[in-house]
Amino acid sequence: MLRSALIAASRSAGCRSVVERTPLMRPIVDRFVAGSAVDDAVRVAHELAADRLISFDHLGEDTLDRAQAEQTVEAYRTVLARLDAEGLGGKAEVSVKLSGLGQALAVDGEKIALENTRRICEAAAAAGTTVTVDMEDHTTTDSTLSIVRALRADFPATGTVLQAYLKRTEADCADFAGPGSRIRLCKGAYDEPASVAYRDKSEVDASYVRCLKVLMAGQGYPMVATHDSRLIEIGERLAGQAGRSRDGYEFQMLYGVRPQVQAQLAARGLRMRVYVPYGTEWYSYFMRRLGERPANMAFFLRALTRR
Ligand code: FAD
Repeated sequence: MLRSALIAASRSAGCRSVVERTPLMRPIVDRFVAGSAVDDAVRVAHELAADRLISFDHLGEDTLDRAQAEQTVEAYRTVLARLDAEGLGGKAEVSVKLSGLGQALAVDGEKIALENTRRICEAAAAAGTTVTVDMEDHTTTDSTLSIVRALRADFPATGTVLQAYLKRTEADCADFAGPGSRIRLCKGAYDEPASVAYRDKSEVDASYVRCLKVLMAGQGYPMVATHDSRLIEIGERLAGQAGRSRDGYEFQMLYGVRPQVQAQLAARGLRMRVYVPYGTEWYSYFMRRLGERPANMAFFLRALTRR
């Protein structure tokens, strides 16, 4: 219930203005967000790059303004040029949210998001790296997968995300397990109805394992995005059973979440990528993270009540 309330709050302008104006919130936000500027993201990337890979996320979603979507494209072109200039091209990619690139615009949203993401893919290719398209709520899944299929025609290494909590995902994994595909499997971060999604943790976890089996047995590159130790162990075991070498798949975690486990996996020679969000539009991303662990909520409430 708490998680549903926080996800609802993540889309509320009223809650946003209260949270953004709370001065004591900044240290809690800083745990999950690398900073406001591209320099902050690049600094964090250099710190992580000793033993980890990186995916940059320029924060921003749900835009209904074409000019803002254009600014997001420019922000990605800037970070891609920077990672190229700093020699991070082999270590870092970018993650994009289509709702920040125009997907939700009333007129031609899908077409505009495709063209905007294509321009980011061109900049990524020039920097020697790739793009992974994040997945948002279930009303956008078909549109997102169709945009990813179109992008893959020109940029075959474009990755996407599939969410184990959706009942459709095992079949989507089978569709996307072919040669060259890059699929990040996560549990799913939105509040989805029981008509389309598993709502019990045990059912979501069971679905995650079924999906992992399909991806590991397939011909693509599975990206195991979870902080759940049991699923990490299962992922490693399934990869071994499928005959995958250590560079035939990777683990992924969010910046600020279980950093010691990230370091331990990396120290064992496993590929570990950290998703590094940066920018000023941190509110929705931050609220979803709060809902994922009750202890995060305690820090948040303390900051809110001491404003
Ligand atoms: P959980 O069962 O939620 O957590 C397992 C354990 O991990 C918890 O007990 C806790 O100890 C720790 N943990 C988990 N989350 C937190 C946290 N926020 N703070 C502190 N500890 C925590 N979701 C989407 O819907 N679309 C996406 O495109 C997407 N991209 C992602 C990319 C990456 C690299 C990762 C790691 C996650 C992404 N997610 C995305 C979020 C994902 O769907 C889950 O909401 C999130 O990862 C929590 O699920 P979990 O697998 O870690 O398992």
